[in-house]
Amino acid sequence: MIISIASGKGGTGKTLVATSLALSLKDSHRVMLLDCDVEAPNDHIFLKPAVTGSEPVNILVPKVAEDKCTYCGRCAEVCAYNAIAVLGDHVLTFPQLCHGCGACSYLCPEKAISEEPRETGLVEWGRSDGVEFAHGKLTIGEAMAPPVIRKVKEHVSSDGTVIIDVPPGTSCPVVEAVKGSDFCLLVTEPTPFGLNDLALAVETVRELDIPCGVVLNRAGVGDARVEEYCKKENIPILLTIPLDTEIARLYSKGIPLVEGLPKWKSSFLGLLGRVKVLIDERNRSLKR
Ligand code: SF4
Ligand code: SF4
Repeated sequence: MIISIASGKGGTGKTLVATSLALSLKDSHRVMLLDCDVEAPNDHIFLKPAVTGSEPVNILVPKVAEDKCTYCGRCAEVCAYNAIAVLGDHVLTFPQLCHGCGACSYLCPEKAISEEPRETGLVEWGRSDGVEFAHGKLTIGEAMAPPVIRKVKEHVSSDGTVIIDVPPGTSCPVVEAVKGSDFCLLVTEPTPFGLNDLALAVETVRELDIPCGVVLNRAGVGDARVEEYCKKENIPILLTIPLDTEIARLYSKGIPLVEGLPKWKSSFLGLLGRVKVLIDERNRSLKR
């Protein structure tokens, strides 16, 4: 079972939910936490894993042999990302814009373009007190998160429960991290910003045909519009976490919620139980 933890915006409590869920399950399940928030991974601050391996992430970028080039401009025409340009008798490449799709080298009529690897990030893996762990780190200044996310997801295990901490937002890195999940938990807060970004995140997961439910964090601030929205859209609120100075204090010290306040463990086990029921119901309805 793969459960992704997403949110339309950063700072809603995704890390708190991902790490608490993993630590609550570890005594009864094989559990793996993959931190795909590669621009700002921070699950490791809470889990403190012993890192046992690492691997750089490379994408293939074009290298032009100008002695073969006729400056026909075909490579610039086919590049959807403006990562290669032909100006007079010069070919300029912009490796940081390149998505490594290979179209330019494939379509160059003179076979003047070869590909060379360019490091854009790093994946590390290890273990923390019964939780298998991996995370990706996008190199500072790089913009291409999806290849790093794909590399982290190579660690998805086919048994046990896999929890994926998804980057915030609704763009390509989110789609890359969420796709293939059995269920997506959307973490939000009861504020107008929370509601706006939740609605965008719901659109994204519905587009991907992934069932979802909400974790309402910092309940007690804001208003009831998130709850009204969830009711109208028939999205279950599966867990409510109150605005609580003790929870905030633990978070600021890098202490997982279920370690600092163990009474929360049963709430996260209950959350998993509700998610399983929803996945089973959906699977049954798809078979009919
Ligand atoms: S497609 Fe090939 S030959 Fe044409 S400008 Fe680009 S590198 Fe040069
Ligand atoms: S590999 Fe793809 S993205 Fe990169 S320069 Fe070539 S066409 Fe553009």
